[in-house]
Parts: sequence; structure tokens; C-alpha cells
Amino acid sequence: MSSARTIAIQENVDRPGRSVDWPTVGDRQLFPSEIFGLDVFDRKTMAATLPKPVFQRFSKQVQGRQQLDRPTADAIAHAARIWAMNKGATHFTHWFQPQTGSTAEKHDSFLTLKSQIVAGQEETFAIDAFSGGQLLQAEPDASSFPNGGIRSTFEARGYTIWDTVSPMFIRKGPHGTSTLYIPSVFIGYNGEALDEKSVLLRSSEIISDATVKLLNTLGDHETKRVTTTLGCEQEFFLIDRAIYNLRPDLKIAGRTLIGNPPPKHQQLEDHYFGQIPSRVLAAIAEAEYECARVGVPIKTRHNEVAPSQFEVAPIFEEASIAVDHNLVTMEVLHQVAHRHQLKVLFHEKPFAGINGSGKHANWSIQTDSGDNLLEPTSSPETNYRFLLVLVAILDAVYKHSGLIRSSIASASNEHRLGANEAPPAIVSAFLGAHLSEVLDAIEESRPVAYAAPTAKSSNGISLDLNISTLPPIARDLTDRNRTSPFAFTGNKFEFRAVGSKQSPSFPVVLLNAAVAKSLDLVNDALIAAKGDKAVPSEEDIIGVVRQFIIASKKIRFEGNGYSDEWVVEAEARGLPNIKSCPAAFKQLLTPSSEELLVSQGVLSKSELHARYHIQLEKYAKDLLIEAETLHGLIINGVLPASFTYRKELADSIISQEKVGVEAVPEKRILVALTKTSIELQDATTVLKATIAKVNSLHGDEQGIAAGNELTHSMETVRKFSDAIEAEVADKYWPFPKYTELLF
Ligand code: ADP
Ligand code: MG
Repeated sequence: MSSARTIAIQENVDRPGRSVDWPTVGDRQLFPSEIFGLDVFDRKTMAATLPKPVFQRFSKQVQGRQQLDRPTADAIAHAARIWAMNKGATHFTHWFQPQTGSTAEKHDSFLTLKSQIVAGQEETFAIDAFSGGQLLQAEPDASSFPNGGIRSTFEARGYTIWDTVSPMFIRKGPHGTSTLYIPSVFIGYNGEALDEKSVLLRSSEIISDATVKLLNTLGDHETKRVTTTLGCEQEFFLIDRAIYNLRPDLKIAGRTLIGNPPPKHQQLEDHYFGQIPSRVLAAIAEAEYECARVGVPIKTRHNEVAPSQFEVAPIFEEASIAVDHNLVTMEVLHQVAHRHQLKVLFHEKPFAGINGSGKHANWSIQTDSGDNLLEPTSSPETNYRFLLVLVAILDAVYKHSGLIRSSIASASNEHRLGANEAPPAIVSAFLGAHLSEVLDAIEESRPVAYAAPTAKSSNGISLDLNISTLPPIARDLTDRNRTSPFAFTGNKFEFRAVGSKQSPSFPVVLLNAAVAKSLDLVNDALIAAKGDKAVPSEEDIIGVVRQFIIASKKIRFEGNGYSDEWVVEAEARGLPNIKSCPAAFKQLLTPSSEELLVSQGVLSKSELHARYHIQLEKYAKDLLIEAETLHGLIINGVLPASFTYRKELADSIISQEKVGVEAVPEKRILVALTKTSIELQDATTVLKATIAKVNSLHGDEQGIAAGNELTHSMETVRKFSDAIEAEVADKYWPFPKYTELLF
């Protein structure tokens, strides 16, 4: 084995464990609930640290979604600084989400110099200060963030503005550094959205307004606002750092570009829900601890299907906060893993042939009094509010399935969509047998046929296990269907096709926008049906529900989404099956998408086009980076390994022949290896030419060529490289193999 590999493996084996320093009171460790939010300048802390009238003004302005006035902002900034400095913070930063998929921050110190005349002489004093102006707004140099051509260089200004709904928090950095984080939106000089968050906030307001209108029509005048709720299950791999460091492909592209799957990986499914390895458990526990301090409510942790694959999931929250918290979770995992000499991989498909990672976005709508509008209750057939919201969602997903597909398209997620562990590129909705029966019954104007429940609980049906020592358990109204990209799971929809690496923001934006539009249509239909009546009658409502059930029926699919038959059936139903990323991005620009997004004010026309260009360009760049990386691996690592081994074989053959032995086995290997090496060399030459070609193209042409030609060239190179990996003596192989990476 190459010496670097041996050393890395030894380092991995010898690693001492690292424990988490939980704070204590007396001799007991703090409870999770006591740690939760310690570093958040939340409403409770604000109430305690702000003068009462200031806090009241703040609350009013936030609820009314108004801008903060300057005196209020000054008072909040002052209180926040004192609070943060007492916790060791020296800096503050506007923390925002440019369209790069990650977050951005620029730290400023509280340190300020002030001049004052003292005894006739000007003296300079150092003070700590933080003004309302600095809290509300900052102006980072925006010219280096993706903008899709929305800003010309002469108006390159961008502003970050505090999102008052998302509280400030302190992140402890390395070596005792602490910074006050101000969650912010990022907009251009003329107010154009340059980020993920401002668009999400817009879409949240639109769906809130549409839902409130519908509820009004139903006679509910209490509900003033609804929020979309989101809980993101985050999957990832954790591997040893030393071994990771020997894989330039993982370091640069986030995934392995070459390598054969090990003989045993996930076939036995013995990793899923197994005991979490101790080093990993320590790292995840430390990440949970840090998340808890900044108010991120991680609830669940477990092993995933693939070796070295894990998942954490939070308690759901309002969507924009849940997005912030998902991004914090990823950052915290990244940093904490480092301390444990581990590397976290968020790529959707780090290892070919082995399950990839997703981010299941659980989504629902909740009223300001806390009612989940997707709670079916035990008799959904008479839960009209639920039915109306449900059919609006089905209508939205049916009409905009192509657009929704586009929100999860990326070079990395492409490896996962349609492969055997991820929902396919065809968007459909799964409801489960019970709800499907309810909708079918309404459609056919007949009573609902229940699967004879033994007893009813308030929530679902209880199962009789015939084991007298076990209590009766409640069964959810829906079963699970892992093959559906958009599945109803009890009291929420689970958008399962979202990529593990991406921000969950834009998928939620498109969902919100599409559902808002359909809620409006449902509302219009109800108003037409009720005529002069104050509220619609049961028949009016059922009539509208039936109309939408029929219109959106094609989007409902209860079968196996991975099967070939579904591809055929979906085509017959006219559902789009958008396989490539460039084609998916194009969905943003269709007349129906433009009508949906622009008319509702979610995105302006120029923002929409900018997004398209940003995504397409990122896609091509991602593939070019992978291709260059692969080229380097082959030229600098794989071919030299083959040459060294070939020389050893050749030397051995010569020395054997000198003593009159015919070196048949060596010759066979040498001939085979020579042939594969030539094939690899040729394929690598083609790869280089393809890179040059794709580099010379622009826009759509570049994206399409990258998607077709570059990926094809890379696959060919990989095929021959993997063949050589199997042929070359292990001691000459320069890169850690899958077995070393994963076990
Ligand atoms: P499952 O394992 O069936 O997907 P879980 O209860 O583990 O269900 O939930 C998974 C995720 O869904 C969690 O992050 C959870 O907080 C979130 N979730 C649950 N209810 C809702 C809801 N009403 N809205 C949004 N997310 C939700
Ligand atoms: Mg789930």
C-alpha cells in the first residue's frame, strides 16, 4: 500500500476520542432544554434587556411586518451589543444567503474610535459601539456574488438588511472568537432579490394571504396569518479526515470521481438504524449541543442506509427560520467534524454505486392559532378545510411539476435523482391508501370504504397487535412510500427529492408560490359556488373539492416510483420527466412559470431570468471543475501507478527470462494493463479536448454540452481508471479506496 495511505489509516485507527464539554450546574449536567437558545437574542432575552416601550414597538413592527424605526433599532442594537459582549462577542456580522447554496458573512468589530476635545486638545478614545443603522443594514461588496447579470457594474451595490423575524445569535468560532450573527436578506441597489431568503419571505407572505382569504370565505375571520412550516431531515456522510485528505476529488468536487465499490457495502442493510459508531456519536452530539445553544432544535439522529452515512432532523419551525437553521446545522456539522478529525460530506452522491444523501423537506401550513391545516383528523372526509387545502396542493403540484422539479436540479443531485435510492425526476404526489380512498369516494359521490378499524383514536386508527402486554398503538393514516418525490406523511407533505447539499429555500419558494396560486383558484371556485350565501354550504364545498380532485388526478401516484412501468405510465399521463439539469432550469422560463412567479410578485421577470442564468452557469462550472479534477487524478496518480507497476512486471519478466523461466502470469497482467492504460490515456485526451470545448461555449450551449459531452467523457475515463484500480498492485495505488473511506 502506498505509504501515505498506510499512514492515514494508522492515524485513523489511533485517534483518541474527543468528549463534549456540557455545562453543569452543581454536579449535574444542564438539561437539553436549559442549553437551548442560550446564545440567542430571542424574544425572551429582548423582553428582559429592552425598555418595555421599545420591546412593545419591536413586537408590533415585527407582527405587522413593518420596518423598524430608528430609535427602536438603536435601542435594540445597544441591548444586543451589551448582551453579546457579556458572552464574549467582539464582532457582529450580517449573515445572508447569496445564490451560492451556502451562506456569507463579513465580520465587523464593535471597536470604534471617537474623538473628543479634552482640555482644548483633541483626544481619540477607543469605545465599543453598535448602532441601529449598523443593525438594520450593511453594504457588503456585492460584486462577487452571483447575480445572473441583474446588476451592471456601475450599480454594483448590494445591501443586507436584518430579517427581524429571525433572531440574532452568537456563534463561537475557533480559539475563543465569538461573533454576533444578524440573519439578513441580501438585495441589490434597486431592491432586486440577490439571495434565497428575500424570495422565501415574499412567497411566505403570498401563501399566507391566499390561505387567509380562503379561510375567510369559509367563515373563519379569526385567522390573520398562516405560516408555512418546514422540518429538514439532513443526510450526510462522515469519514476520517486523514483518509479524506488523500482524495483530491473529494476535496475539490465533494465526490469521488474514481473508485470501485467495495465487495460489501449496503447490501445487507446492516448500517441503517444500527448503533452509531462512538466517534461519530461524539461528533454529532457536539454538533447538537452547539446547535441547541443557537436555538436549532435537533431532535433525531440515526445511521442511514449506506456505510458511514447518518441523518439528523430538527423539530419543524416556520420555513424561513427552518432554512436558517438547516444552514446553521450544516455549518456546525462541518466545523465540529473537523474537531473530531472527521470530514462531513454533504454531496448528494459522494460514492458511486452506494446510496446518496437527500434532504427531505417536510412542509405544511399552520394558522396563527397553531392549527396544522394538513392535519386530516380521524375523519378527513368531513374535514372540509383540510380537503380544500389538500386539493389546492395537488392542483399546484400537478400544474407546476416541471417547475418544482427545477428547484432540485443540480450537477450533484443529478446523480441521485432517478437512481435507485432517490425519487425519480418525474414529480408525482403520494397520499396513501386511506386518503386516496377518501378522494376517490368524493370523486365518485359514494361513501368512504374504511378498512375495518378495530378502534379509533383521535389521530389515526389503532392497531391490534394481539400481544396482550403491549398497549394498543395508533396507526398513521398514511403508510410510507420511499419512492415518491412528494409524499403525504401523516400531517405534512415530505418533498423527498431535495438535495442534501442545497439550501431548502428555493424548493419551498416554488411550492409556496404554486400552492398560493391554487388556493386562490379554490377560493374563486368556492365564492362562485356559494353565490349570495354568507358561507358556502357542504354541497358547495364538496363540489369544489370534487372539481379539483378530478382536475389534478394525474399527479397522484401510489405505486413504485422507481419502476420502469411508472416512466411509461407517467408519459401516458402527460407528466413531465425532465432528466437533465439544463432542461430542468428551462422550466423557470416557461410562460406558465413566469405567469405564476411574476404575477404573484415572488420574482420579477429579471430576477427569474437571473436565477436561470446563475443555475445554468453554476451547473457548467461544477462539471468543469469535476472534469479538471478527474484529469489531474489520472495524469498525476492513476497512470503513474500503472507505469510503476508495469515497470515492476517488466523487470520481473526480464529477470525470470534470464534464468530461463517463462514469466507467463506477469506477462498476462502486463499485456492487460498496457491495453487498459492506453485506453485510459486516450479517454483522458478526449476528456481534455471536451473540457476545452465546453470552456469555449457560453450560456445554454455550454450547459447542454457540459451535461451531455463532459459527463460522458468523465464516465468513460472512470470506467478505465476503475479497471486499472482492479489490476494494479495495491501498494502502488495512490488514493484511498472505497473500503478505506467508508469503513
Ligand atoms: P417521518 O420519519 O415520518 O418523516 P418525523 O416525525 O420523523 O416523520 O418527521 C420528520 C421531520 O418532519 C421532522 O423534522 C419534523 O419536525 C418534521 N415535521 C413534522 N411535522 C411537521 C409539520 N407539520 N410541518 C413541517 N414539518 C413537520
Ligand atoms: Mg421522513
